[in-house]
Amino acid sequence: MQDRYDVIVVGAGPIGSATARHLADGGHSTLVVGPAEPAGFADHRGVWAGHYDEGRLAHVLEVPLMTSMLAMRSIRRFPELRERTGVEFTVPTHSLSVMPRETPGGSSSDWFDRDLLARNARDLGVEVDELDEDALCAAYPALSFEPGHVALVQRDAFILNPRRLVEAELAAATAAGAVLVRDEVVRTGKTDGGVLVTAASGASWRAGQVVLATGAASNATGLLPRPLLMPSFGATVVLVEVDGPDAVDMPAVMYLKYRDGRSLFGGIVMSPRPYPDGRWYVKLAGGSLLANPLDTAEEIAAWVRTGGRREDVDEALAVLHDLLPGREFGPARTRPCMVSATPTERPYIDRVDETAVIAVEGERGAMAADEIGRLTAELAVHGRWRDTIPHEVFQARWAEPGWTTAGWLAARR
Ligand SMILES: Cc1cc2nc3c(=O)[nH]c(=O)nc-3n(C[C@H](O)[C@H](O)[C@H](O)COP(=O)(O)OP(=O)(O)OC[C@H]3O[C@@H](n4cnc5c(N)ncnc54)[C@H](O)[C@@H]3O)c2cc1C
Repeated sequence: MQDRYDVIVVGAGPIGSATARHLADGGHSTLVVGPAEPAGFADHRGVWAGHYDEGRLAHVLEVPLMTSMLAMRSIRRFPELRERTGVEFTVPTHSLSVMPRETPGGSSSDWFDRDLLARNARDLGVEVDELDEDALCAAYPALSFEPGHVALVQRDAFILNPRRLVEAELAAATAAGAVLVRDEVVRTGKTDGGVLVTAASGASWRAGQVVLATGAASNATGLLPRPLLMPSFGATVVLVEVDGPDAVDMPAVMYLKYRDGRSLFGGIVMSPRPYPDGRWYVKLAGGSLLANPLDTAEEIAAWVRTGGRREDVDEALAVLHDLLPGREFGPARTRPCMVSATPTERPYIDRVDETAVIAVEGERGAMAADEIGRLTAELAVHGRWRDTIPHEVFQARWAEPGWTTAGWLAARR
C-alpha cells in the first residue's frame, strides 16, 4: 500500500464508493476509508449510515427536477456497473405515488404534488400515468387505498439494494486500482502540498485531495471546520415479516395518507424484499423523523442502540392492515437509519477548502449516488466545475459555529 494518493475518500457508503470508482476509472490513485457495516446495533459505538438496508427506490417521481435528473444519470449507468462487477443490485418495480386528490399543504406537499411530479417525469422523457381513484383501484386490486386518493405511476422504476450497490461500486473501484481500508477517519490536516488523513487505528496517509462522503453524520465527525446547514435525524425502518415474495402483490408505494383532513402516514411502503436473515419483509418508513434530531457522535450511537422508535410499529401495522385488509402479518421489528436534509433540497457537492470536498445527499442519495460520485470525483481532481449543470445548484450552505439540528428544530416550532 502506498502512503500518498491523488485522492482519499472518507466514507464507503453509496456516495463515497461511487466517488472512489469514478476516481479510479479516471486513472487517479484513490484510497477509500470507511468501516464495514457493523454486525448489530444493540451495543453500537461509532458512526452509522443511511444505507444499511435492502431496498431503496430508484425512480424519477421526485422533486425537485434536479433529484430526478441525478437519479436518471445514475440509473442509465446501472447496466454497465452490473456487467462489470457481476453484482445484481436492482429489481424492476412499479413506483406508485399515492396522495389525496386535493394536495394538502404542509411539509410533504411538494413531494406528493401529482402535477409537479408528472411534469418533472415528462421533462425527462419518462412515461408516467396519472391514475384517478377508480383507475388506482383497478390497477392494484390487491390494495385498498384511502378513499379520495389518486396516484401517479412509473412502471419502469427499480428497487435498488443499497448494500449491493455499495458492493458493486467498491468492486468496480478496487478492480480499477482503488485501495479500500476498513477504518474510521478521526482527523485530517494540512501537509506539504496536500492533506494528511489519520484513522482510528493510528494509520495515516497523504493525498492531494480528500473527499468527505460521511453521510448524515457529516457534522458529527469532527472533520469539518464549520457545520453544514444540514439537519440530521434518526429514521426508523419498520420491517414486517411476510411469507415470501408472492405473499403480497404490490408495487413500491410512496403513500401520503389523509383522513378527514388529517395526515395518518407519509412515507414508503416497499414491496416484499429478502433480508440477510433469510426472511422476507415489507418495509415501511414514515414520518417520525423530526422526533430524533442527531447532532453528536454520542447521540448517533445512542440512537442506533435504541434500534429505532417502537411507536412506529403501530403506525406501520395500521397502514398495512388498511392497505391489505384481512391479511395476517408476521412479527414486526424496527431498524435504525440516518437521514439528513439540505435547505436547497439538493445534494451538497462543494469545496470545504482547497484540499477538501464534501458530498452529501441524505434523502435520495442511493438512487443518485453514482452521478453524485461522478460529479464529486471531477470536482476533486480538476479543482473546478466541469458539468453543464451549474455548480451553484450543488453549493453547500454553511452554518454558524455552534449550529445544531436540535436548535434549528426548536426555532421552527
Ligand atoms: C428510511 C430511509 C429511506 C430512504 N429511501 C431512499 C430511497 O427510496 N431512495 C434513495 O435514493 N435514497 C433513500 N434514502 C436515502 C439514502 O439511503 C441516503 O441518501 C444514502 O444512504 C446516502 O449515502 P451516503 O454515502 O451519503 O451516506 P451513508 O449511506 O450514510 O454512508 C456514509 C458512510 O460514511 C461512513 N463514515 C461516517 N463517518 C466516517 C468517518 N469518520 N470515517 C470513515 N467513514 C465514515 C459511514 O460508516 C457510512 O458507511 C433513504 C434513507 C432512509 C434512512
